[in-house]
Amino acid sequence: MKRILITGAAGFLGSHLCDRFIAEGYSVIGMDNLITGDLKNIEHLFKLQNFEFYHHDVTKFVHLPGHLDYILHFASPASPIDYLKIPIQTLKVGSLGTHNLLGLARVKKARILIASTSEIYGDPLVHPQTEDYYGNVNTIGPRGVYDEAKRFQESITMAYHTFHGVETRIVRIFNTYGPRMRLNDGRVIPAFIGQALRGEDLTIFGDGSQTRSFCYVTDQVEGIYRLLHSDYSQPVNVGNPNEITIKDFADEIIKLTGTTQKVVYYPLPINDPMQRQPDTTRAKEILGWEAKVSREEGMKLTYEYFKSLSSEELLKEDHKNFKSYIH
Ligand code: NAD
Ligand code: UDP
Repeated sequence: MKRILITGAAGFLGSHLCDRFIAEGYSVIGMDNLITGDLKNIEHLFKLQNFEFYHHDVTKFVHLPGHLDYILHFASPASPIDYLKIPIQTLKVGSLGTHNLLGLARVKKARILIASTSEIYGDPLVHPQTEDYYGNVNTIGPRGVYDEAKRFQESITMAYHTFHGVETRIVRIFNTYGPRMRLNDGRVIPAFIGQALRGEDLTIFGDGSQTRSFCYVTDQVEGIYRLLHSDYSQPVNVGNPNEITIKDFADEIIKLTGTTQKVVYYPLPINDPMQRQPDTTRAKEILGWEAKVSREEGMKLTYEYFKSLSSEELLKEDHKNFKSYIH
């Protein structure tokens, strides 16, 4: 049985990856320090024989007995609110954490895939973003802690590939959404849906003309699965190219949820990228992959998930914390 370590297993993407690899018959080891994740995302896996969980901070030495075939390094705060609250941990997990996992991959002779991000392109001057674009990042801006950690992560990963011959894969993930996102993580989809469910106004940052391209989680997981099993070590964008302005997206949420609330405008956060759309030519050519789930379909499933949360859960969340983000 193939054995895979998934870091960030209790988080949004990590938990879906655990499900996928369990379904494919792998023995899965989840690792997480629960700083932004939640065990409820993987509690259904604890009864399974081919699932183990280690509560561990990957910025500390990672020891794992037994053989290992693959590592997926997904541990990292991922939303702007999270990495503004915990900037040092964000830098450490992208740098020290990645170093530890590359070291583990090297001794175990395991293939490692690291979760990079469209944020390495910063506020992009090339549109749509191709993998050979170097990016436009403010190193010392509020998002720099995340963006630069991820850029370093890519560099050290390529260095381990080149100098130590470690089999490495780099996925550049564009905004991905779906069930198990945290209601209060501040990302636009849980923010808008949470606001609609609580009967609050929808908070648009800036004038809403900035764009994003949203990928449903099952599409993202499929892209990652294919990349891991490919023989390609250069970075690959995985995302849905269907681009929309945040203002139009707010209108879609109003229609989907039937909320009678209005939209309200707040200042645009510093260095918030004005446009983002993946060029997925490489993913198509190398992996035979493209996004299949439309935004309409994916948002329906996501809304169902958030609606299924108890009202206690919905209200206990610190949903006002976006204000600390826009100062
Ligand atoms: P998430 O916050 O839901 O999951 C991250 C998980 O990592 C959490 O469970 C957290 O507790 C864990 N973690 C953080 N630091 C850790 C540490 N030092 N040791 C062990 N565990 C630690 O976020 P997500 O959206 O699932 O993102 C997962 C990965 O995908 C991240 O690396 C993120 O940068 C990347 N990514 C996600 C998106 C997206 O749209 N969701 C976009 C680009 C990149
Ligand atoms: N955004 C918004 N209102 C919110 C939360 C986010 O208008 O309540 C905007 C945010 O400024 C950004 C876009 O939505 O332009 C996507 O934000 P998110 O945090 O989801 O992802 P990222 O900026 O990392 O792509």
